Amino acid sequence: MENIETAATAAYVVAALLFILALAGLSKHETSRSGNTFGMAGMLVALVATIALALARHIEPIGVGLLVGAMAIGAAIGLWRARVVEMTGMPELIALLHSFVGLAAVLVGWNGYLHVEHDLAGGEAGLLNSQGMLGIHSAEVFIGVFIGAVTFTGSIVANLKLSARIKSAPLMLPGKNFLNVGALVLFVALTVWFVIEPQLWLLIAVTVLALLLGWHLVASIGGGDMPVVVSMLNSYSGWAAAASGFLLSNDLLIVTGALVGSSGAYLSYIMCKAMNRSFISVIAGGFGMESSSSGADVDYGEHREITAEGAAELLSSASSVIITPGYGMAVAQAQYGVAELTRKLRERGVAVRFGIHPVAGRLPGHMNVLLAEAKVPYDIVLEMDEVNDDFDSTSVVLVIGANDTVNPAASEDPSSPIAGMPVLTVWNAEHVIVFKRSMASGYAGVQNPLFFRENTQMLFGDARDRVDDINAAL
Ligand code: NDP
Repeated sequence: MENIETAATAAYVVAALLFILALAGLSKHETSRSGNTFGMAGMLVALVATIALALARHIEPIGVGLLVGAMAIGAAIGLWRARVVEMTGMPELIALLHSFVGLAAVLVGWNGYLHVEHDLAGGEAGLLNSQGMLGIHSAEVFIGVFIGAVTFTGSIVANLKLSARIKSAPLMLPGKNFLNVGALVLFVALTVWFVIEPQLWLLIAVTVLALLLGWHLVASIGGGDMPVVVSMLNSYSGWAAAASGFLLSNDLLIVTGALVGSSGAYLSYIMCKAMNRSFISVIAGGFGMESSSSGADVDYGEHREITAEGAAELLSSASSVIITPGYGMAVAQAQYGVAELTRKLRERGVAVRFGIHPVAGRLPGHMNVLLAEAKVPYDIVLEMDEVNDDFDSTSVVLVIGANDTVNPAASEDPSSPIAGMPVLTVWNAEHVIVFKRSMASGYAGVQNPLFFRENTQMLFGDARDRVDDINAAL
């Protein structure tokens, strides 16, 4: 038994190091594959060590049976979902997975309470009390349940918003900031009470409070800020796992949770900076944000259209082209055609580059993953800041299924829900061709004046079909 404990501790250190290497690898295109491999290896080491420990500690056959049964069911569902999920369904799947981490933290917290505080006269509570540790245990239970429940409902709302089952516009309850701040103050007061005197009804109260708060925080965020919310929920799920690690006395869970929590928080901070948003305002459920106008009732005039053959002609005579992909490229799975178009144009001596907005698509790095999958060379795939000054010297911009990320209203209309968000300034190019199926708005639900500009032409239809048509015409 002692040998297994020592081996498991050593395995946990190895797993934690592999997770750190995974995070380092995932920070660059070139090393992201090895980053993923490190992450998977770390998880394998962690799982084997944890199962070995559990088997060594819980020798009752029923416990082993339950453990193996639960793992088999979880693994089967996980494998099935991962096999069938479309690339466009990844964001909502990830939000759902975050909700499971939150739910697990709530269950671990409740289990901690039922095992210890519930029976105050019992052995374990008495022992902890005599060591002056009962208060710390109670605080761990309470905080773990709170973070877990906020993550659970927040992630469910994120899942519903990302899958368009509820609208992405922010919920504007009267006094919403007061409600959020009030809930936090109540949580602090209840925590103090529970630490002094652990009681079942307090735990029920904080669970309900946190479930409502998680729901409200994410429902109050508009479509344009959803990317930050998703990475924030990722961070919360890490903290929820760390809280469970304290309760279960599992060092690896604490380290892994803290890694996920802090890297998620840092990613949210970087995204907020890139999108010119206040970090505090977004995590506090849109604190201080004013209600805004979608521009749906503004008359921008007539739009112009172009055919695939016309677009091919324009591209043939272009000297430089920038392609700005968005969520529609992912929906249409147009990346392979786009890669072929890029190759054809480069063979003709046209300088082709890609401009990637930090929140294009529905996942951080979504467009980079698709383009890498289609083998577009990394060195022509540039970040927004690297191309934004070059549009005015560009002959043709192809906007492939992007909308919010190329919307001039962000810089020109202070009442727009996406006001202040930096966007790709595609309209400065000589010609802009927009690939989409209709004049519908993008994820943030905001009308796009780009479509009505003099130098913009719409190429309607599925982006993959239209790109294939252009390839055929070239
Ligand atoms: P948008 O979601 O703004 O717009 C995508 C456009 O693609 C739509 O207007 C749609 O128009 C078009 N489209 C959809 N399917 C097709 C198709 N088959 N062929 C051609 N066009 C198609 O995309 P962006 O990438 O510009 O912006 C991303 C948005 O998502 C931002 O608001 C961002 O905040 C949000 N978001 C981003 C996350 C991230 O981490 N990256 C996470 C959560 C939200 P039509 O229907 O007319 O074809």
